[in-house]
Amino acid sequence: MTTEHHEIIVVGAGFAGIGAMISLREAGFDDVLAVDDASGPGGVWHWNTYPGVAVDIPSYSYQFSFAQRPDWSRSYAPGAELKAYAQWCVDEYHLAPHMRFDTRVTAATYDEGSDVWRITTSGGALSAKWLVHAGGPLSQPKLPDIDGVGAFAGDTMHTSRWDHSVELTGKRVGIIGTGASAVQVIPEIAERVEHLTVFQRTPIWCLPKVDFAIPRPVQAGLAAIPGAKALSRLVTQAYVEYTFPVIAHYGASVPGRTLFERAALAYLAQQVDDPAIREKLTPRYALGCKRPSFHNWYLRTFNRTDVTLETTTIDAITPDGVRTVDGTEHSLDVLVLATGFKVTDKDALPTYALAGRGGIDLAEAWDADRLHSYQGVSVPGYPNFFTVFGPYGYNGSSYFALVENSMAHIVRVLREARRRGSAVVEVTTEAEAEYMAGLERRKRHQIFWDPSCRSANSYYFTKQGDVPLRPSTTVEAAWRSRRFPIDAYSFAASAG
Ligand SMILES: Cc1cc2nc3c(=O)[nH]c(=O)nc-3n(C[C@H](O)[C@H](O)[C@H](O)COP(=O)(O)OP(=O)(O)OC[C@H]3O[C@@H](n4cnc5c(N)ncnc54)[C@H](O)[C@@H]3O)c2cc1C
Repeated sequence: MTTEHHEIIVVGAGFAGIGAMISLREAGFDDVLAVDDASGPGGVWHWNTYPGVAVDIPSYSYQFSFAQRPDWSRSYAPGAELKAYAQWCVDEYHLAPHMRFDTRVTAATYDEGSDVWRITTSGGALSAKWLVHAGGPLSQPKLPDIDGVGAFAGDTMHTSRWDHSVELTGKRVGIIGTGASAVQVIPEIAERVEHLTVFQRTPIWCLPKVDFAIPRPVQAGLAAIPGAKALSRLVTQAYVEYTFPVIAHYGASVPGRTLFERAALAYLAQQVDDPAIREKLTPRYALGCKRPSFHNWYLRTFNRTDVTLETTTIDAITPDGVRTVDGTEHSLDVLVLATGFKVTDKDALPTYALAGRGGIDLAEAWDADRLHSYQGVSVPGYPNFFTVFGPYGYNGSSYFALVENSMAHIVRVLREARRRGSAVVEVTTEAEAEYMAGLERRKRHQIFWDPSCRSANSYYFTKQGDVPLRPSTTVEAAWRSRRFPIDAYSFAASAG
């Protein structure tokens, strides 16, 4: 039986996969196939349908620069609109015939004899000359590391796999976690349930959100006035730049971080009536150690008498509900796991066994050593392999900036390979080492090394204590993604 072969296979059809497909096809690579285990495009916006799901950066900056919509319904669009935007991109760029859904990649092995990637999927074997990973940083749900997960007799669901058939009205619901998804879901379901118990390990910094409906005339104006969309993107991007990458990477040196902290504490004091609950909701780590959240009535929800904030450590999940270490049994009908995603876990980066030269598994190599890459895009020892989101590629700004930067980098390399007629392309060990050393020199400005960050339980940190984000502004990352020395890569006619 012959194996189905494509010049390029992209794993994932979220915005990284969609962006990759658009860039590759526009660069003249026609034989490209994207595979995704979801039943449709959009990635996180396909999978996450929990009540209240929405972007946490303004919509004008959370979209492709080359495919800007004037008709976002709100300044922070709801998840369903992002899912619709993904479908719109697929239709607009005629990607559907080049996408395969309900197909999970389980392994990819570089065949050094024939210079191709051999890919195993739930739908059969594939091979490709180039492999582009776009499997996403937040695509693999993480279950809590608590005894008895699975023992609960009622309905259990992870926020990213919301089961809409489960009725919450009039039920006793427990939710484990107070991260970004929980901040959105808690205020929505509190309205409906009989009682909501929120199990919190670490309080999150929560700032108000400038969230409002965009009136139709404004949408029409954005569509009609030349430069209006670009301007709205520029303004919101500047705001995102300051609140995420600047504070995170230069937080130890720039003014403003403590101002934000003071504003957030004042907001907490204004929103929450009970001083004891307020105390429990007060973060003890610097703003920026983990991604802050934005919501206009999350904090206020804890004033409700039918909402309990439980901060005692969980001992076990039992058939009846949740038992905390003080022996209290919290009887529940429904348990929601807002416990986030496997981000830098061994089985999530990448999401399948990936064997490069000498059969060395990338996740094993990264686990034994530390995460490393060249600009978050390529790794020595893994020829003809690129990833849109790799270690030290993302600076925390809009994800779309990352996708466009990574794709500019990848397309430049592939074009060069095509120009030279190369069969094998690989980033050099020296280029990667130089890049990593450059990052090391910038670490001292980052907020992550503030001692308080140790208590933040932030998914930014790997088990080795590294933070694999790119300490850079978005403008610099954009420039470097397009102007890196091309001899950072070796181009060979064939491995043999
Ligand atoms: C609820 C939520 C809200 C968010 N809000 C924001 C925001 O406001 N701003 C922001 O910048 N970022 C936000 N993010 C981060 C988000 O991860 C990125 O913005 C972006 O959508 C990721 O795109 P992606 O294509 O890289 O990954 P994903 O959207 O996760 O898509 C990856 C796809 O690859 C598939 N896949 C993975 N592995 C395999 C495999 N082995 N085989 C087949 N298919 C596979 C997955 O099923 C998934 O469909 C949010 C994330 C979540 C979960």
